[in-house]
Amino acid sequence: MSLSYNRVLLKLSGEALMGSKEFGIDHDILLHYASEIKTIQRMGAEVAVVIGGGNIYRGVSTNQTVIERVQGDYMGMMATVINGMALQASLESIGVYTRLISAIEMKEIAEPYIRRRAIRHLEKGRVVIFSAGTGNPYFTTDSAAALRANEINAEVILKGTKVDGIYTADPAIESDAEKYDRLSFDEALNNGLKVMDRTAFTLCQENNLPIIVFNIYESGNLQKIIQGEEIGSIVDNF
Ligand code: UDP
Repeated sequence: MSLSYNRVLLKLSGEALMGSKEFGIDHDILLHYASEIKTIQRMGAEVAVVIGGGNIYRGVSTNQTVIERVQGDYMGMMATVINGMALQASLESIGVYTRLISAIEMKEIAEPYIRRRAIRHLEKGRVVIFSAGTGNPYFTTDSAAALRANEINAEVILKGTKVDGIYTADPAIESDAEKYDRLSFDEALNNGLKVMDRTAFTLCQENNLPIIVFNIYESGNLQKIIQGEEIGSIVDNF
């Protein structure tokens, strides 16, 4: 089958993993992510995933007088490794081969990040999960997604969220907010639309890497995207 995208980087937020729980990992959501990924992997897409950590720890929200920023950021990166392990387990429970890679060396549980090795895993059909973000404080997992996607020559970043795309305003607050189907990086920046943080966004803009924001909770969306259906909102250098 010919696919619109053969190699994708899927960004999953850690926060979304909580589902309706107050913290931690909702197993139903984890399995939902895994089965959506399995579908496109079975269709022949090469899938890399960057997973966040906001359900467990977020550096910036820390009371910085007790846990200073950099320490908090490292704690956030550890949180992404925990989520990565959970996603790995759920993918393997449904028969998908995976490799967990950590940007911070943790060789008992994850491979170190070696670009050519990560690409080789993808070529062999393994789902590659990038954890520990970029390995550096002051970044987010959005930046890690932009960085890794460029490094592995992914054709697109698929940002799975709980809304179905990018809106002119927050649709939860303003009822007349309108959804964009396509928009340029400049439009998103000039209108202050929060698609990803600026570091991540700029990296994609400069390297012509499109971002599709879509609702990951709706089953089948991921599959539709790689088959070429225009789901969600696409940001590119239009
Ligand atoms: N983080 C970091 N460097 C990175 C990636 C993540 O310091 O390269 C830290 C940062 O404190 C961040 C936390 O890890 O708040 C969790 O990641 P993020 O907030 O991006 O997760 P998400 O919002 O996707 O759940």
